[in-house]
Amino acid sequence: METMTSSPGIPGEHGASVDSPETRRYHRLLRRIGLADMLLGLVLMGVILVADWTSTFRNFALRVAGDHHSLALFVYTSILLLLTKAFSLGLDYYSFLIEHRYHLSNQRLRSWTWDQFKGFVLMFFFGQMLVQLMYLLIRWQPHWWWVTAWALFMALSVILAHLAPVLLFPLFFRFRALDDEDLAARLTRLSENAGAKVRGVYEWMLSEKTKKANAALMGLGRTRRVVISDTLLATCNHDEIEAVLAHELGHHVYRHMLKGIAVQSVITFFGFWCLKEAIRWAEFGWQRYAQYDFANLPLMILVATAISVLLMPVLNAYSRFNERQADMYAWKSLGTVVPFCAAMEKLAAQNLSEREPSRVVEILFHSHPPTGRRVKAALAWAATQH
Ligand SMILES: [Zn+2]
Repeated sequence: METMTSSPGIPGEHGASVDSPETRRYHRLLRRIGLADMLLGLVLMGVILVADWTSTFRNFALRVAGDHHSLALFVYTSILLLLTKAFSLGLDYYSFLIEHRYHLSNQRLRSWTWDQFKGFVLMFFFGQMLVQLMYLLIRWQPHWWWVTAWALFMALSVILAHLAPVLLFPLFFRFRALDDEDLAARLTRLSENAGAKVRGVYEWMLSEKTKKANAALMGLGRTRRVVISDTLLATCNHDEIEAVLAHELGHHVYRHMLKGIAVQSVITFFGFWCLKEAIRWAEFGWQRYAQYDFANLPLMILVATAISVLLMPVLNAYSRFNERQADMYAWKSLGTVVPFCAAMEKLAAQNLSEREPSRVVEILFHSHPPTGRRVKAALAWAATQH
């Protein structure tokens, strides 16, 4: 999904050029949690491999399942998924506490626990499906399994992009059609001027969970829609909301969702090739696990995680490029940057966003340009329009 705001943000003073110490602390904490979570995952898989617990788990799974290969794989994968969740649960809970400490959350522990459970069930389902598919292919096509796996993975991604707004997001949030005729008419006018058609505008009931505001373009084809949070509708006036909608429309007009899928397909092709090389090395170089032996799964997870961490700055740069493009679309289609800048400032305050993070932090972690830069770019563009 193409969202309006970068991950989490800040309540600073309106127009303040520097972020408050509170904002900086909040973001430092978030980055540390993210880093710790990633390291924990890598270390866990590393230990399972190096200490060869993976063979222990595999032998246990084979004892439980007997000759039934896919059942053994299911048992083995379940152990890995449960272990991973058990290890990351502490950090997940800490994040929940942090959101409350900075007065950004409206969510009760009970609702959070239920969300965690649903998230785990989803991950369990998709994880098991992917793993079963991969090892089936490794047995059928020892040389070319990774190409078929990549093609199926991409097909699944496209299907999920279609289904996400109608199947996945509603598991965690409520949505309803935006019943503001003036706003709906404005969006229709904007999109008609662009020669584009968005299927609908929905109100995203975010206030049940958080005080933060957001807007996004979701779905593909018939499920394509703009969603806008009730928290944003409550803070911004109609002109500002129109600027936010224009930005989301920019993502639609520039086909950012499709381009994103194309970029993802190139990256995952490389990723699956790396997985193939890794398990070949585990068989011949390390002389540890045959390619079809699912005890090599932690190695695949390790490689996949390392690749996604290393590529994150590249993907973030690509995302920031798309965001700048959508911003410019909003200014051009409205012919003014005033409501856009006002909305940006309000969102930054509401979300405790870092308006001016260091350049390094921006490059490494931000999927969106920081508010300070977005506003500056808008004003610079406006200055060239006279
Ligand atoms: Zn955006």
